[in-house]
Amino acid sequence: MPPAIVVSNLSKHFGPRLALNAVSLTIDPGELVALIGASGSGKSTLLRHIAGLATADPTGSSAVEVGGRCVQRMGRIAPGVRDIRAATGFVFQQFNLVERLPVLTNVLVGLLNRIPVWRSSLRQFTREEIRVGLQALARVGLAEHALQRASTLSGGQQQRVAIARTLVQRASVVLADEPIASLDPTSARRVMDMLAKINGEDGTTVVVSIHQVDIALHYCRRTIALSHGRVVFDGPSSSLSPQLLQKLYGDEASELLNTATSVPAGSRPDRDAIMSPGESSPVSPEFAALFRGN
Ligand code: ADP
Ligand code: MG
Repeated sequence: MPPAIVVSNLSKHFGPRLALNAVSLTIDPGELVALIGASGSGKSTLLRHIAGLATADPTGSSAVEVGGRCVQRMGRIAPGVRDIRAATGFVFQQFNLVERLPVLTNVLVGLLNRIPVWRSSLRQFTREEIRVGLQALARVGLAEHALQRASTLSGGQQQRVAIARTLVQRASVVLADEPIASLDPTSARRVMDMLAKINGEDGTTVVVSIHQVDIALHYCRRTIALSHGRVVFDGPSSSLSPQLLQKLYGDEASELLNTATSVPAGSRPDRDAIMSPGESSPVSPEFAALFRGN
């Protein structure tokens, strides 16, 4: 089996600013890797390049491969990138859900790369597709919220919807860019549990950028640390020394190390999220009809 992700000699300038500096890394199928680094160190830029959403500097010998297939080479996107993207899941800090649409529709958006455009525009899905969507929601513990408008969910729940979307997508690689940065510690933990679960149960390769170092240590055996666009550490999370963290984060290091991640006994994670759930919203009759009988 080819590596899940190969990045070779990737550099990226934004004007005079060097956002990625000769980054090389290889991630094997089934790994759960933390990508850490201070704000501005290049985490999002690297993930966007892996996804084929941005192109590297055209100079040099840069390349990105996902699942053994070329995403980009020497600053040019490969022709087959659409198919690779269809098998790559994204989870973003700001959830990226269509807030006015029901949760289930948001999950089924994960199928849009696989069904004809005319169907996606009508938002019509087959019973089988809906069954798959509901199953994915059940796995992230949100089946009972399927018909609620996405905006009525808490932040942590919305992030789990985004994870369910990667499940219906059958993504073999999930790139999560600071998925817990907008969440309280309890919801953050729940989202990380979910990423660890799809990694553990499905063998999905997960790369998660993270600001909280202790969470990386807790969940990910391997950490890749960026500083000013360079990989400054790539190895077992357990070997991350306080000295290296000091180098990465400067004065913020001790603060980041002390981030609370423990779940208080008896707490209800969904109630502790930053956004409070509202009442459920009406769904369209067509949508309700699709849902009935499943
Ligand atoms: P991180 O995700 O680690 O906070 P980013 O990848 O967002 O870091 O940014 C890395 C560097 O590249 C930063 O200096 C940032 O200002 C710069 N950068 C990122 N995207 C752009 C862009 N579209 N235009 C100009 N500069 C950018
Ligand atoms: Mg970022």
